[in-house]
Amino acid sequence: MHITSQEIRTALITGSTSGIGLGIARTLADTGCRIILNGFGEAQQRQDLLAEMERRSGQAAQFWEADLSQALPALPEVDILVNNAGIQHTAPVEEFSPEMWEKVLKINLSAAFYTIHGCLPGMRARGWGRIINLASVHGLVASVHKAAYVAAKHGLLGLTKVVALETARSGITCNAICPGWVLTPLVQQQIEARAVAQAIPVEQAQQELLQEKQPSGRFTQVEELGALVVFLCGPGAANLSGTSLPVDGAWTAQ
Ligand code: NAD
Repeated sequence: MHITSQEIRTALITGSTSGIGLGIARTLADTGCRIILNGFGEAQQRQDLLAEMERRSGQAAQFWEADLSQALPALPEVDILVNNAGIQHTAPVEEFSPEMWEKVLKINLSAAFYTIHGCLPGMRARGWGRIINLASVHGLVASVHKAAYVAAKHGLLGLTKVVALETARSGITCNAICPGWVLTPLVQQQIEARAVAQAIPVEQAQQELLQEKQPSGRFTQVEELGALVVFLCGPGAANLSGTSLPVDGAWTAQ
């Protein structure tokens, strides 16, 4: 199945060697998109992922070599841009290292500006584009010890709105997805740190993490986020732009 009946779309998903980005890449590949991966990982793992994407999509897949904390190399031509790469760092504000503040802002916010800046001209020329920014519930509300992450994700929602306004009559949409807890390497680190800090088993730390914020009491699955991306790329979402969609088991309803 193709996202649109006429054309095979090319999708770049940043940070797609693990977690949510990989889940989204798999789901888009299953719809027949040409996939461009990006992120860190061993050479063999990257080769395996490219082969998997080609098998799923029936299209050639490629890797965009870019460390999003650095100046970006030229961007490939894409129809779908998913700004997913992100890192977390936790510390009270007064102990937050300025280096980590800069790094979180670069990867979680500035990189999205640069990829959009690079991809928009091609989308405009083709009269079609989908930009999807992986923000977070932390784009909508705050939690302690996440100053840089919360600031970056709130900023990403602002960027999403501006791009939506500027592209409103161009066949391009720009939306943000705001997940609550999703069990990926990024969150596993936080669960393990919590287990150590409270001297409790990892399973207990995981349950407490969910109970504290996410009323559904379960993690959002990467496949659920992939399905939302496919919807946002499909014809039913052609006039849906500038929104921030929480997928958080009612976290932000509280
Ligand atoms: P993850 O750690 O599993 O994946 C992060 C990806 O980003 C990896 O592929 C990694 O290689 C890549 N990456 C990191 N630094 C990079 C850099 N400098 N250049 C290029 N790639 C880089 O994390 P995840 O949980 O899948 O997070 C994906 C996105 O979803 C992030 O933006 C995160 O903030 C957001 N998010 C995650 C959760 C959650 O609960 N996991 C919740 C809300 C939002």
